[in-house]
Amino acid sequence: VMIDTGWNFDNSYARLPEALFSKVSLNPVALPRLAVLNESLADSLGLNVEALRSKDAIAELAGNRVPDGASPIAQAYAGHQFGHFTMLGDGRAILLGEQITPRGDRVDIQLKGSGRTPYSRRGDGRAALGPMLREYIISEAMHALGIETTRSLAVVTTGEPVYRETELPGAVLTRTAASHIRVGTFQYAAARGDVEVLRALADYTLQRHFPDVDGGENRYAAFLREVIKRQASLIAKWQLVGFIHGVMNTDNMAISGETIDYGPCAFMDVYDPETVFSSIDTYGRYAYGNQPTIAAWNLARFAESLLPLLHTDTDQAIQLAETEIAEFQQLYRGHWLSGMRRKLGLVNEESEDAALIEDLLGLMHKYEADYTNTFRALASEEREASSLFEAEPFAEWETKWRARLDRQPESKDASRELMNSSNPAVIPRNHRVEEALDAAVNDHDFTVMERLLDVLAKPYEASPDRSVYCAPPRPSGRPYRTYC
Ligand code: AMP
Ligand code: MG
Ligand code: MG
Repeated sequence: VMIDTGWNFDNSYARLPEALFSKVSLNPVALPRLAVLNESLADSLGLNVEALRSKDAIAELAGNRVPDGASPIAQAYAGHQFGHFTMLGDGRAILLGEQITPRGDRVDIQLKGSGRTPYSRRGDGRAALGPMLREYIISEAMHALGIETTRSLAVVTTGEPVYRETELPGAVLTRTAASHIRVGTFQYAAARGDVEVLRALADYTLQRHFPDVDGGENRYAAFLREVIKRQASLIAKWQLVGFIHGVMNTDNMAISGETIDYGPCAFMDVYDPETVFSSIDTYGRYAYGNQPTIAAWNLARFAESLLPLLHTDTDQAIQLAETEIAEFQQLYRGHWLSGMRRKLGLVNEESEDAALIEDLLGLMHKYEADYTNTFRALASEEREASSLFEAEPFAEWETKWRARLDRQPESKDASRELMNSSNPAVIPRNHRVEEALDAAVNDHDFTVMERLLDVLAKPYEASPDRSVYCAPPRPSGRPYRTYC
C-alpha cells in the first residue's frame, strides 16, 4: 500500500497579480538521490517520513514531478546588491506552494537549485551539493539557537554535474519559510510603478505575517513599524551569537523576520567587528560590525518602496517613513543590550552595564579571544588558559563584573544558569562545517554531517564528548574564506 506523503498545498501567492511571479514548468534531473532528510521538520509539517524516502517523493524533492496540489512558480523580486539596484527573481528556485501544517501554519515549500526560470539571466539555475548542505547545516543550527530562520527539509543530489570553477555534484535543497517575500519583492513592485500591484502585495503580506496589525491608524505605517521591529530583534540575535550573514542585499532580507539565503555566511571565531568571510565582499560592506547599519539601510529601501501607500502626499509619506526608520537603532540597541546582559548573567539593569559590556568586548578584541568560548567560559569555574584570561586588564574587568553580580538579588546559580542558556557551547565552527562538506562531497560520506547536525541541535549542551566541536580552529595563517 502506498503511504500518503502528506502534502497539503495551498497556492495563495499564485493568486496575487501575475506581475509578481511566473508560472514555471519543471526541469527534471538525471538521477535524484536523497542525501539528507530533516525528519523532525517533516513531522511538524505533517509529512510522512517513510513516504518521503520513496522514489516518487524523492522525484518531487528533485523537481522531477509536481506534488499533488502544488502549483510551481518563480517569484519576481528586485534588490540592491552591494548597493546597486537590479531586477532579479528566483533564478534557481521555484516555489511549489504553501504547505498547510496540522497546526494550521502556512509554510512555503521551495526547491533551490531546480533549474532555469524566466529570471535566470545568465545563470544555469542549478546549485552545487556543498553550498546546499552548508545552508542545511547553518539554517538548522540557527533554528536550534532560537533564531528565526528559513529551514531545510531535504537535500537531493541530482546525478548531474554543475560547472563553477570546477565540476561539482549538483543538488536541490528543499527550503521551508514563513514566506519568501523579501524587501526586494516590494522594491520590484514599487519599481514597476503599479500602485495596485504594490497594494495587493502589501495587503497579502500584512494578512499573512502581521494579522494583528490594527487597521485603525495608517495600516502601512504600522506594517513598516512591525517589519522594523522584527529586523531589530533578528539582527540583535545575529550579533549576540556572532553570526555573519555575508550578503545582506535587500533581496536577502525577508519581511517575515526570518534569516534567509545562506550563502557565504559564517560564525565569527576571534572577536573582531571587522570580520568578513565572504570572498565577494571586497570592501567589508557586510562585515560583522556593519550588520545593524546595513539592516537599517535595507529597511530604508523597504520604506521607500512603501511611500505610495503611506500617503498620497509624498512629503508626508517621507515624513512617516523617516519617523519609523528612526526607531530601528534604539530598538536594535535595546535587544542587543538585554541579550548581552543575559550573556553576562545580569538580571536587573544598571546604567553602567553598557560600558561593562563594551569593555569586555574591547578586551576580547585586543587579546584576540574566541567570541563564543569566552562568553561560555565566564560562567565556568575552570577556564582554559588564554591570553585574555591571563591579562591584568581582564582581572580588573572581572572584579567589576563580580561586584556587579553581587549587587543583584539573584543567586550565583541563577546567574550561571542564565549564562549557560544564553551562551552557546557549540556553534557551527567553520572548520567543522568544511570537514562535514568535504566528507559528503568528496567521499559520499554523510555521517560526518549527521554527527555535526546532532551536536548543533543542542547548542547549549556542553558534555565532554562535544569538546571537539567547541574548539576554535588552529591558527592557519590564512583567513577563512566562504563562497556563494
Ligand atoms: P543570491 O546571491 O543567491 O542571493 O542570488 C542573487 C540572484 O541571483 C537571485 O535572483 C538568484 O536567483 C540568482 N542566481 C544565483 N545563482 C544562480 C544560478 N546558478 N542560476 C540562475 N540564477 C542564479
Ligand atoms: Mg507573471
Ligand atoms: Mg538571494
